[in-house]
Amino acid sequence: MTKPEPKPYILGIEAYVPGKSQASDGRPLVKLSANENPLGTSPAALEALKQVRGDAATYPDPAATALRGEIAKLHDLDPARIVCGTGSDELLNLAAQGFAGEGDEVLFSRHSFAVYDIAARRCGAQPVVAPDRDLTADVDALLDHVSERTRVLFLANPNNPTGTWLPPQEVERLHRALRGDILLVLDEAYGEYCDPAVQRAGFDLARAHDNVLVTRTFSKIYGLAAERIGWATGAPGLIDALNRIRGPFNVTASGQHAALASLGDQDFVEASRVHNAQARARFVKAIAALGNHGLVAVPSEANFVLVRFTGKVTAEAAREAIAEAGYAVRYLPELSDALRITVGKTADMEAIIATLRRLCGEAP
Ligand code: PMP
Repeated sequence: MTKPEPKPYILGIEAYVPGKSQASDGRPLVKLSANENPLGTSPAALEALKQVRGDAATYPDPAATALRGEIAKLHDLDPARIVCGTGSDELLNLAAQGFAGEGDEVLFSRHSFAVYDIAARRCGAQPVVAPDRDLTADVDALLDHVSERTRVLFLANPNNPTGTWLPPQEVERLHRALRGDILLVLDEAYGEYCDPAVQRAGFDLARAHDNVLVTRTFSKIYGLAAERIGWATGAPGLIDALNRIRGPFNVTASGQHAALASLGDQDFVEASRVHNAQARARFVKAIAALGNHGLVAVPSEANFVLVRFTGKVTAEAAREAIAEAGYAVRYLPELSDALRITVGKTADMEAIIATLRRLCGEAP
């Protein structure tokens, strides 16, 4: 009997594995596995969500006009050079689909965001992985892996799952050495957690060049992951291509309203950034104090920390103990000696630290 067969390159895709929120026995766990905002969502955005729920029968603004306008105002960008997406995930996929296909290559660094491999394969392109250096994207290795078939280069900055970051000079060096026909996608899902002094660097590059697309999201610091809203900025030709292939009503009405309201509450964004920086610093210090047990915190500019377990205490044992204490963290098979731990509420981070200290045989 004949049946529809997926394209062979579709069958080559390993589906994305989301962060867990349950123990293996089904017990609910506090989720420190998906890099969500532990402070929740701005009250202004929650209020906007309540109001818009009354009208579900009409389509949302297909162009997300008001939202693009406010994003542009906040970041001093041209709204015509912004496109919104169903999360930044949609925009990453569209960037690959719009600019690469069968016979082309999509390049990214080892240990970077899992969606890049999927985005490359689902349009039939070949994913090419450049080695990293110390769990950080290596500009020279990326450039060494550029071929005449390279069409798109994804760089997560800060990177997930490592938390590491390339300073603007390094990103500029990468861009300078790239051919103009290669699209450089700077995925800044965690951009707002960086030092405010460097947060504009990607936007400035995207404004000045025809081949740089910057993606951002409302899922992380804005605390709106459930609503699925992302955006991208770049040259008119890039935005035009993404507009042709995106879903016509790809951002829901509630998402547009909530995102708009959240942009107006920059106090919440700043409080989230400050909480993250402080709680992350305390956590990293506590991990450093367990260095004699082989625990190493990879330097992070994001809202999570990758902890490596290089001694007797294994990542697996740590994950079990942490789950026993009531928390889900991220285990990544390709980084089997490590756990990615989202920076949560202060009390939750204290509980994780106490668990790890106990596991190492230290007083909690
Ligand atoms: N880029 C990176 C580096 C991420 O970690 C994530 C979320 N896991 C995304 C993009 C996508 O986020 P969203 O689709 O929620 O905007």
